[in-house]
Parts: sequence; structure tokens; C-alpha cells
Amino acid sequence: MREPNFYAAGGLDRVGRRRKDAAWLAERLADPASRFVPVWRSQNLVMTNGQGSPAAAFLARHEILCEGETVLLGTVEGCAYFALDFSHVEMPREALRAATPVELTDLRRVGPLLARHEGSLLAYARGIAYWHQRHRFCGVCGRPASSEEGGHLRRCTDPACATQHFPRTDPAVIMLVHDGERCLLGRQRVWPAGMHSTLAGFVEPGESLEEAVAREVVEETGIVVDQVTYHSSQPWPFPASIMLGFHARARTTDIQVDQSELEDARWFERAFLRSHEDSDDFRMPRRDSIARRLIEDWLRR
Ligand SMILES: [Zn+2]
Repeated sequence: MREPNFYAAGGLDRVGRRRKDAAWLAERLADPASRFVPVWRSQNLVMTNGQGSPAAAFLARHEILCEGETVLLGTVEGCAYFALDFSHVEMPREALRAATPVELTDLRRVGPLLARHEGSLLAYARGIAYWHQRHRFCGVCGRPASSEEGGHLRRCTDPACATQHFPRTDPAVIMLVHDGERCLLGRQRVWPAGMHSTLAGFVEPGESLEEAVAREVVEETGIVVDQVTYHSSQPWPFPASIMLGFHARARTTDIQVDQSELEDARWFERAFLRSHEDSDDFRMPRRDSIARRLIEDWLRR
């Protein structure tokens, strides 16, 4: 079995059946041993000892001086972990009384440096907090929706509607396209200088994953693919996706870049990718990304 991708496999028991147990939830919320994962406007909290790798900051409830949207993430060895979103606070530092120096930061800045299980927990907290922030109202009737079941459901507060809204994640396909000895990488204008990566795009309603892979590749580069095979998946809460990774075989080689989507797309030789050093002319995608994983696994073949 492959090693899990970054932000997957948090070692957490999601205790799905406990979410409806209000008494158990209340006990866990009051338990001094429970740990809280603060989220402020999609930023996570990390410890900053100034030395070595950063680490996630998991606080006791009394170290957070305000209320917030609270979501049961799960348990680790019997200890409950909750996300606590305090984005409504204007001065976040003043709402925290952590015992160690801490800092709010974008997970994308520190993700590859964190212990895997910590990165996964922070990603989960960020993703579910984002969902709550954007589903405060019922999408059917427009009335307020309130959180239930430990934060894994929002229900419309109008009894006549009472629609249930469940946390969602947007499926996106991401694919390493190759023709044997070369692979197809593209680049978007907004990326860091020289960075090239695999193609990717959102799955549309009424479409299979394989169809989405083929459609995105032909739309962005004009390349026709077949032999679409699943590789692995990655939670990617930046802001709300799951990346579904594939390898696909190119049937054509003539690239026609859709300039509205990509600045450039090119074939790269296996030998070049194996020997290159990152520079502003060419660099590989982020180390915590499934894109990097798809490329490196293909290079090992
Ligand atoms: Zn409603």
C-alpha cells in the first residue's frame, strides 16, 4: 500500500456514531483533557519556538477566551479534538491565552514542515470551519441554519423547511498525462516563477471521474488521453476540495494551450525531471501536493 498523501491519515477516529450523543458531546466539551484546534479566517495556529520545525498548537478550552463555531473532529487515544472557529473576533491574538508562543498562519505556508498527523488535523479543522462560515443560511429558503450533531450537519431553523445541509467537499481531478517517456506539465500565470505542475480541474455534475480527466486535458491543452487510471486522493481544503489523482496516457502530442487557463504547457522528458534543480526557469510543484506525488511516482516507473 502506498504512503498516504499529505493532509490524509490524521490517525483520528471520527467517532461518527457519537455525534448524535448530546450528553457525550457536552462531557467532552467540558473535559479539561479535550483539545481545541483554533481556526481564524482560514488560518491555523502553530507553535513558534523559533527553532526547528513548526508544530500544530492544540489548546485547552480555557486558553481560548471567546465562543465560536465548534465542531467535533474526532478522538485520538480517547482524547476528543474540536475545531473552534473564532473568525468573528477582530483581534485574534487577544482571544488566545496559550501556554506557549503561538502564531496564526496559512497552512499552505507550513504544511510540508508539520508532522503528517498534525497537518491532517489542521486541514480538517480549516476545511470544516470554511464550510460552516459559508452555510450560515439555508440554501433552500434563506433562513438561518444552525449546527447539529457536533457540527456535522446544519439544519434550517424554519420548521416548515427544516432542510438538512451536510458538509461538502468539491471533487477535483488531477492528472499526470504521459506518452511513455515524456509527461505533460502546465503552468498558470499566478504560480511561483518557473513552477510547472500536472493539469487539474473540477468534476462537473453528470460526469464520471474518467470523463472529467479527459475533458480537462483536452480543454486546457488539446491533448487526447485514454487509459485513465486512479492513483490516490488527497484532502485539499484550500478552500474545499478533495483531489482525485490519476495517471493518463496521451494519444496525441500536439499541444494547443488554452491561454485563459494556462500560461504554458509542455512535454518534459523523464531524464530532465530526474536531474533538474529547482530554479525560476523550472521548478516542481509543492512538496505537500499530490501533483508532486503523481510526477515522482511516474518517474520511478
Ligand atoms: Zn430552509
